[in-house]
Amino acid sequence: MMRILLLSTYELGHQPVNLAQPAAILRAAGFAVRTVDLALDRFDPVGMQDTDLVAFSIPMHTAARLTVPLVARIRKLRPRIHIAAYGLYAVMNRDYFNTLGVDSILGTDSDSDLLALSRRLENEAGGDPAAARASGTKHPTWLPDRSDLPGLDRYAYLRCADGRRKTVGYVEASQGCKHYCRHCPVVPVFQGRFRAVAREIVLADIRQQVRSGARHITFGDPDFLNGPTHGRRLAEALHAEFPDLTYDVTIKVEHILSNRNLLPILKKTGCLFITSAVESVNDAVLDKLAKGHSRSDFFRLMELLDEAALDLSPTFVPFTPWTTLEDYIDLLRVIADLGLIDSVAPVQLSIRLLIPPGSRLLELDDIKSRVQALEQASFLYPWENPDPRVDGLQCAVRKLAQAAGDSPRRHVFSRIWQAAHRAAGIEAPALPVAAPRGIPAQLSEPWYCCAEPTETQYRFL
Ligand code: SF4
Repeated sequence: MMRILLLSTYELGHQPVNLAQPAAILRAAGFAVRTVDLALDRFDPVGMQDTDLVAFSIPMHTAARLTVPLVARIRKLRPRIHIAAYGLYAVMNRDYFNTLGVDSILGTDSDSDLLALSRRLENEAGGDPAAARASGTKHPTWLPDRSDLPGLDRYAYLRCADGRRKTVGYVEASQGCKHYCRHCPVVPVFQGRFRAVAREIVLADIRQQVRSGARHITFGDPDFLNGPTHGRRLAEALHAEFPDLTYDVTIKVEHILSNRNLLPILKKTGCLFITSAVESVNDAVLDKLAKGHSRSDFFRLMELLDEAALDLSPTFVPFTPWTTLEDYIDLLRVIADLGLIDSVAPVQLSIRLLIPPGSRLLELDDIKSRVQALEQASFLYPWENPDPRVDGLQCAVRKLAQAAGDSPRRHVFSRIWQAAHRAAGIEAPALPVAAPRGIPAQLSEPWYCCAEPTETQYRFL
């Protein structure tokens, strides 16, 4: 029987559904499957001897960086083993992963592709095809199999506004996205397509995670309201079955504005906060990113969320080739004026625009003329800001964010405020005082994907 090892290096601090999903399908088809989450556990070279196929989940940039040394290590240990990779960043960097020694790159139907690959390898190896004959269908109809993944209590937790901690589960109610934001890695792979995961499957997955201790659920879809009816029905069904369960969702600014009638329903059904990619408060930059919202839309969004008593967890890309020091200081001032200092994870103030292969940003003439040659091992096109003080500030802010630890966000923000004004050669005024919103509930692992993984993220090696 074909023995398959599914590996994940990083999935934003939650139990990797991108292992649990294919594990369910492959096990149902009769294959022996192990899953290992290297964000928590070390790589076991001895276990490689009992493996016929290794498949890496590579859903994001950080995971791609972390996968590279591991592919080389496995190739050395088992020169003839079949290595596969799937997920957004595997598809976008197909050629590079092939040169590293990855044999198969699987596309957006990676679960069924993985099943087909496993069957082919089983047949080529002369195994009993009957051992793998159970039928496989497209993945949204399968309940993720989380049976051999680490317990939920080892993953990111929710810090409640009152200081309590809640164990967090993670599901995806849809895959892909119908939008075409220029900087988004979903776009080159899904090309404006999204598909809903069957409501019963999502609810069954929530049910099994509640049984494992989850008291809060993160919906990690690229956008919970790509299908507003699907999202609403799911939220209502979740609340009907688990009235005490809370949850958070990711929704783009444009969808929050156009579906404002759903905000009271989200609130009533247990939504604590919405993560939204605000990215910038400069309309020219938002236009370059094709975000579909403006600076004034952000202010309107805050009014609507305040009316609905929902918190916002905003994400930003403050450092772009177009960012000026004045822009950066303006962003900090807006955050402070809106009373959002405690809602912004410090790392969000350090994010630098990533331009990966296939990015729609490369359609822009001023990007084409600014980027340097593709750095394959970094999975991006490097760029420099025309004002070196901006790049210097980005390094300084990144260090402040990395050193933040559990310091209150307000303290870190104050240091960043000082650093930004120092870079501009002006005295920092006192931070604007805004009506305090209190400290909102937040996940202990903030949403981010940096160009450079930290040393601790390589500890599995
Ligand atoms: S809405 Fe979000 S997921 Fe969709 S393309 Fe834009 S950034 Fe990507």
